Amino acid sequence: MTRIAVIPGDGIGTEVIEAARTVLDAACARHGVSLSYTEFDWSCQRHEREGAMMPADGIETLRGFDAILLGAVGWPGVPDHVSLWGLLIPIRRAFRQYVNLRPIRVFEGVQSPLRVADDVDFVVVRENNEGEYSEVGGRVNRGFPDELAVQESIFTRVGVSRIADYAFELAASRRGYVTSATKSNGIVHTLPFWDEVVAERAALHPDVRFDSEHIDALAAKFVLQPQRFDVVVGSNLFGDILSDLAAAVAGSIGIAPSGNLNPEKEFPSMFEPVHGSAPDIAGQGIANPVGAVWSAAMMLEHLGHAAAAADILRAMETTLAKPETRTRDLGGTATTTEATQALVVALG
Ligand code: ATP
Ligand code: MG
Repeated sequence: MTRIAVIPGDGIGTEVIEAARTVLDAACARHGVSLSYTEFDWSCQRHEREGAMMPADGIETLRGFDAILLGAVGWPGVPDHVSLWGLLIPIRRAFRQYVNLRPIRVFEGVQSPLRVADDVDFVVVRENNEGEYSEVGGRVNRGFPDELAVQESIFTRVGVSRIADYAFELAASRRGYVTSATKSNGIVHTLPFWDEVVAERAALHPDVRFDSEHIDALAAKFVLQPQRFDVVVGSNLFGDILSDLAAAVAGSIGIAPSGNLNPEKEFPSMFEPVHGSAPDIAGQGIANPVGAVWSAAMMLEHLGHAAAAADILRAMETTLAKPETRTRDLGGTATTTEATQALVVALG
């Protein structure tokens, strides 16, 4: 039995996770996959009630699961750093989820803001554990005219090698092309090191074509020629920015999925839609369930159930193409429940 820890979280997180479970159950039933779910109410609501996003032994509790399915955490009144550092970041780090995987596709029926968006199908691989998001640094002379702030980035040979390897192996199973994001012309220590290590790993994958591009030029190409990319690998900061840009290029935050992966499977990986708790539409039953559903499909794939995952993707293609089975954020008319039922029907 495969054990899934479910953390619906806040706002529309609870609505889209319910939808994702419905679609997961239907896909699993067709393929004889059996999953057991344990639900945790870890959220900003819990923080307001008990002073913490999750219990002190939360990480230990999750350790025994095969995967974690998360809705969204964050709510007005609870600062972002509380929900991030109180739940998401400890999970990513404790379980060595060093890959943040964000597939990008423009589906038929989803309006991209770009004119050139046909055939967009790529994956952003973001380094998730080190890089620019470190706590090393500080501020001195607070409030004085000579006040200054310093923030260190941390790049390790192990960290860069493993994210690069993941990107090359993923590309080998796709169209065989990796683009690495850099800025070694301006940032003269860490990014030349990144470039060197990525190029060393590239040499071990002669079957995969490899390019390195400065982040500024790369951001422009995401907008001008998004169809040229296959796998794009970047540091924690660059990957964060590129993956949000990419989700915007694809036309909707409501369908974007993500996986926080521990590829070695020593620890559970975590799957979550890219969107947040969306307080502006929470409780109205109109949230787009597709981001959570696609995240659940990525979870199935990670757990070795590729056929069930592929069925869910096909069902998404079917329902997104028709206005009556997609939600309002995509110019459709369906409620969350209707869009979810349509996905179940499309699974056959
Ligand atoms: P966070 O800080 O948690 O990222 P946020 O407020 O910055 O939250 P979202 O919660 O993702 O960002 O919301 C951004 C906008 O996108 C909101 O207007 C929200 O209603 C809309 N949105 C987000 N997710 C969905 C969804 N699944 N379906 C429909 N609209 C969505
Ligand atoms: Mg936000």
